[in-house]
Amino acid sequence: MTDVVVAESRMYIDGELTEAISGATYANINPATEEEIGQVSDAGVADMERAIAAARRAFDESGWATDREFRKRCLHQLHEGLVKEAEVLRAQIVAEVGSPIMLTYAVQQDSCIEDMVWDIDCIDRIEWEYDLPVHEFFGMKSARRVLREPIGVVGAITPWNFPFMLNLSKVIPALAAGNTVVLKPAPDTPWSATHIGRVAAEYTDIPAGVFNVVTAGNAAAIGEVLSGDLRVDMISFTGSTATGKRIMARGAETLKRVFLELGGKSANIILDDADLAAQCGGGAMVCMHGGQGCAIGTRMLLPRSHYDEGVELLKAAFEGWKYGDPTNPENLQGPLISAIQRERVLGYIETGKAEGARLVVGGGRPAHLDKGYYVEPTLFVDVDPDSTIAQEEIFGPVLVVIPYDDDDDAVRIANNSRYGLSGSVNGRDLDRAYGIAKRIRTGTVAVNGGQWFGPDSPFGGYKESGLGREHGIPGFEEYLETKTIGLPAPS
Ligand code: ADP
Repeated sequence: MTDVVVAESRMYIDGELTEAISGATYANINPATEEEIGQVSDAGVADMERAIAAARRAFDESGWATDREFRKRCLHQLHEGLVKEAEVLRAQIVAEVGSPIMLTYAVQQDSCIEDMVWDIDCIDRIEWEYDLPVHEFFGMKSARRVLREPIGVVGAITPWNFPFMLNLSKVIPALAAGNTVVLKPAPDTPWSATHIGRVAAEYTDIPAGVFNVVTAGNAAAIGEVLSGDLRVDMISFTGSTATGKRIMARGAETLKRVFLELGGKSANIILDDADLAAQCGGGAMVCMHGGQGCAIGTRMLLPRSHYDEGVELLKAAFEGWKYGDPTNPENLQGPLISAIQRERVLGYIETGKAEGARLVVGGGRPAHLDKGYYVEPTLFVDVDPDSTIAQEEIFGPVLVVIPYDDDDDAVRIANNSRYGLSGSVNGRDLDRAYGIAKRIRTGTVAVNGGQWFGPDSPFGGYKESGLGREHGIPGFEEYLETKTIGLPAPS
């Protein structure tokens, strides 16, 4: 074992930092070195059951659901603790995620710690009660009061690509809204969750059972315990569309609320009046973090009138793209998370070749990196919009380039997808680009480099990219129930 990183190996259940009941642990692997960096508790069914019972009891019996000022105070304590421990976490994230260290100064860590304050402030933004005008029904005049209440126990199930950010994106609004939470992180990135558990234990007055973290190597089986339990009222999930469908089906047995943020295959439309040198010259940015992001623009749509020139610029960009050791701040691409993911991505590359796409750069494992789950930055052009690599989410450093004839054709190709998560449109004429953005059937669109991301921006998918929205007021409201009380009208 090399590269030892100080991290929390224990789960957080019912207010205690705890081992699994069986005592079992499993190894956390650094995807850049393929070596063990430490151990973490390996929960069984009984541990998950214990966490669910604690969360249920804390919701039903503690004042968490009703005492908004207390929640605010506790969540600010959590924020302060995470700020204090930021440098401890940074090393863990780079080691367990293989994330380029530069990303930890932004969305992988620091910006989400900052953004959690926006979610906590929602406690003061939400209209928790409001009155409707007097209404006559069956001859009786009534007043009506609408109350917003927490849903109950929320199961948060998260993936490994931006694990800490996605853990906070679910846990903070769910807790701020008054729910209790059981967080089950992905098996490959347990420390991004146990860190939050430890900080909650050491820095906050959060009552026992309100927040729980359960880590498991056999995470799908333990996740199924959470998504199938009658005591859990909602599942908030980010991950693949296939697993999202499974969670929804399982949740249906007990009619759970589900929030799903799923896959994407976002189109980046380059219009014929775009700055081609900037757009294609920067095209290798899709390889950032190994392309392991659901909202990355992995389908580039190039106008036929500028196609050859665009492909040449992209080729140069991909050939010059620096990648490798994630601890080197110059690398914006590190390894993929696991050997399984690397093989999946390489499989898609073989399918692309077999289906007739033209491979221009990359296409395999890098010769100069003999350790780590790396895949070369890979550029496919002349891609058929109906082919596998144009339709399925690859989740690797692979760009597919598709030629188009005119604006209508570009919109048609962009919308020819079962996904609908994100996209971008780039051209000098802002009105034209904006008009096209309005025709794209996705939950977010970036026009001319404008960033849609922010703690107050609703984010989520159309079609098979998900249900509901994360962030913003709509994101907070995902974690609320609505109750209407009828009262006699004041005389
Ligand atoms: P990937 O295939 O890339 O690992 P998934 O969408 O399967 O992505 O995983 C995202 C999260 O969902 C992880 O925390 C994983 O453990 C969890 N998960 C996987 N399968 C299930 C399942 N059947 N029920 C509940 N959670 C699951």
